[in-house]
Amino acid sequence: MHKMNIPFLDLKATYLELKPEIDAAIKRVLDSGWYILGEEVNAFEQEYAAYCEAKHCVGLANGLDALHLALSALGVGSGDEVIVPSNTYIATWLAVSHCGATPIPVEPDPATYNLDPMRIEAAITPRTKVILPVHLYGQPADMTPILAIARKHGLKVLEDGAQGHGARYKGKRLGAHGDVVTWSFYPGKNLGAFGDGGAITTNDEEIAERIRVLRNYGSRVKYVNEVRGFNSRLDPMQAAVLRVKLTVLDTWNARRAEIASRYQKGLANIGLTLPFVPEWSEPAWHLYVVQHPQRDALQKKLGEIGIGTLIHYPIPPHLQRAYAAAGYAKGQFPIAEQMANQLLSIPMGPHLEPEDVEKVISTFCKIEQ
Ligand SMILES: *Cc1c(COP(=O)(O)O)cnc(C)c1O
Repeated sequence: MHKMNIPFLDLKATYLELKPEIDAAIKRVLDSGWYILGEEVNAFEQEYAAYCEAKHCVGLANGLDALHLALSALGVGSGDEVIVPSNTYIATWLAVSHCGATPIPVEPDPATYNLDPMRIEAAITPRTKVILPVHLYGQPADMTPILAIARKHGLKVLEDGAQGHGARYKGKRLGAHGDVVTWSFYPGKNLGAFGDGGAITTNDEEIAERIRVLRNYGSRVKYVNEVRGFNSRLDPMQAAVLRVKLTVLDTWNARRAEIASRYQKGLANIGLTLPFVPEWSEPAWHLYVVQHPQRDALQKKLGEIGIGTLIHYPIPPHLQRAYAAAGYAKGQFPIAEQMANQLLSIPMGPHLEPEDVEKVISTFCKIEQ
């Protein structure tokens, strides 16, 4: 077959489209003489909170820290349990472990790949403190039943929004459905910096303030340390970049939605399982993930033709060496394991050309006919 060169994601294009604005933003920070927190970070926090329809935003160093600090602010510590999806990026689990608490995996709904509300109550014990859904692949988790279960059992809800910038659940943006939402601005995310970055959003003033103190050595007043805090501040240079990128997030997400819509039509009826979008969901389409029983062979073929794909994620957290001490067995979380074996993320991003989308579709149709 004709050799192509369609990358999974073109990150440099995100800079080139905005080069004058990004260069000016970085120069503004350099010229300001102020390099930690300050006006640039404050301005981004206000703009991102408004975008997320949340009252508060606190800028942090990365998405893992955002999860860790948010769990700490919710009072999670040694001996506590936090309900997490069995299928997620390992950061979700690690943050729980870093608090001294135990991640309790719950399987996803195999149709949506998101935490299955029907399975949550069986995992709740007297030690459970928090339910931690992930808006995986940019598809909102089903928040109404999750929040109802949390309220019934007196639990907090922390949402991992690292893949969901701009998505809407029942018409309302992700940002404050639960008690607190964590964000990553890793370069490949829908809202990505040119380096590491993270944040939380919340409507709860007290949670926001606790995280604001935790990110800066547990200090409100310089050299006065109220709690044993961290150094996890959003870099003002990245905040300046993110302010530029935020102005185009809706436009870029609309391009992703257009690509997803082409895939949904063009890839139907050829032996792939395509993403399922419930009627209450407006996804951010961070990833476009298809399922195929011979995933590895399919990925190899596509690679040979020159179509870039990735696997999110090849090994579920419970089978990682990092969690060997927890003693999980293979087969214990079959849905997560099937996802790891059969899911494939195909090219998706705001700079994927429509012609290339059509090429991906026709290639799939040829391979799978
Ligand atoms: C990217 C990601 C994170 C971690 O973000 P970093 O900024 O890389 O630390 C956490 N959770 C999920 C679901 C992610 O996709």
